[in-house]
Amino acid sequence: MPYTQMDGRFERASRLGHSNAVVRAMADRSSFFVPAEHVGDLTWLSARISRQDDLPRPGSEARLTGVIGVDGSVIVVPVRDGLPSVRYGYAQTAAIWLDIDAMDSQRSERFVDPVALSRAVNSALVSFDFPTAGAYVHEGMSIKDSWRECIDTLFREKKIEVNRLDQSLLQLLFLLHGTPGHPALVLPVNCPTRGCSAKDSIPVSPDGADCPTCGHRLWPTDTLRIHEEVVEDGSNNTPMSRLMQVVELLVTVGLATLLWEQARGTVLNRTLFVTDGPLAVYGPPAKLRARALAYFQSMGSSTPGGVALCGVEKTGTVVDYATALARHDALAAGDLLIVDAKVITAITNAHNPVAYGSETYWGRKFIYRALDGRVVVLTVVPVKGTPYDDHGGQPGPDAYPSLGAILDVVDRTGSSMYRDGLIPVALAHAKAAYPIGIGTDVLRLTARHKLGLAPAPKSDR
Ligand SMILES: [Zn+2]
Repeated sequence: MPYTQMDGRFERASRLGHSNAVVRAMADRSSFFVPAEHVGDLTWLSARISRQDDLPRPGSEARLTGVIGVDGSVIVVPVRDGLPSVRYGYAQTAAIWLDIDAMDSQRSERFVDPVALSRAVNSALVSFDFPTAGAYVHEGMSIKDSWRECIDTLFREKKIEVNRLDQSLLQLLFLLHGTPGHPALVLPVNCPTRGCSAKDSIPVSPDGADCPTCGHRLWPTDTLRIHEEVVEDGSNNTPMSRLMQVVELLVTVGLATLLWEQARGTVLNRTLFVTDGPLAVYGPPAKLRARALAYFQSMGSSTPGGVALCGVEKTGTVVDYATALARHDALAAGDLLIVDAKVITAITNAHNPVAYGSETYWGRKFIYRALDGRVVVLTVVPVKGTPYDDHGGQPGPDAYPSLGAILDVVDRTGSSMYRDGLIPVALAHAKAAYPIGIGTDVLRLTARHKLGLAPAPKSDR
């Protein structure tokens, strides 16, 4: 967070840049253990490597032909220079549909033409905004309650803007707690009132409910518990990111269910859903991971050939480690590394790797070196059971029958345009990302307008 100067303005970026350089110089001189810098003897890995051509691959009639890529972006802006505590948050989630065959014909050209590529893509977008700090829905309410009311309103109003998917985020949240075609009737909510003795989760219908113990109004979206991380003093960037990861998941639920209802035997079973980032839910809403796993496993069991879903990580310790393995030639093109407890120990430097991931992930990590040399860190959904549990989970490829078809798509959708990336993920990211610089100025202006704040006087800028 930037510091405020004597005149009330934020400290300039150049000074922050300078202090950043000092911190880096200090870090360079201390001696931490960074697993990716100490890969050492790697012969132990070979027993954990499969070849992509050893996995069952779909015949041409069952090959995946389309990809739906989902990505989100969040930005929290200070609204006024004179009121640095007032923050306004924007988030948007984009989904793109990419026709792999249309893209393949582009690949036979020497370069992938972005214009031709965008013609092969349809996209959907959900965007939302509300004050995250220092501004409230009503006078006299806490910032946590202001957030709860904003999230309730947002989930009732927002729909995914795509053909024939006429469902609000709230309806999709009830759907995720049920099974495809059968949304749950109530969601379990813990009363958020401080000191309230209501212990068990309270069933809350779409209309909301009063806490039977303290009488406080409860909203179905309270089940997400995002308000638990909201603080009075701070920008509340973190809960905004949690909210966006939930919306990303609901966009995937909405689009997959649309295909399941209308074309499960012809389109859904030929489509790969790719999320930018791992298939995981972090922070207070983490219980949704179990709902997501159960929902998509149920969908897969009622879809001929199953449903293919994966997450692709572009940053983090596993990506750094995977890149180091490729640099040391421990992984050849076409190699798939099983990420079992021993690999997790090497990556996370942990001594209790068997329980890794069980609280957050609904897909299992795999490290794949694509045929063109790219290194891709995937999470993939098991056909049944959980990917991680307290006993090591299901590391091997046998529990993931969609893996061969997914690696086939990874091999077909790489591009020199996007290093170590997948074209559908990059396209979704390009749709969802906020432009830096001039774009954030525009967001600040609209936030001031929405909060009813007059533009700051010129001398204050
Ligand atoms: Zn209560």
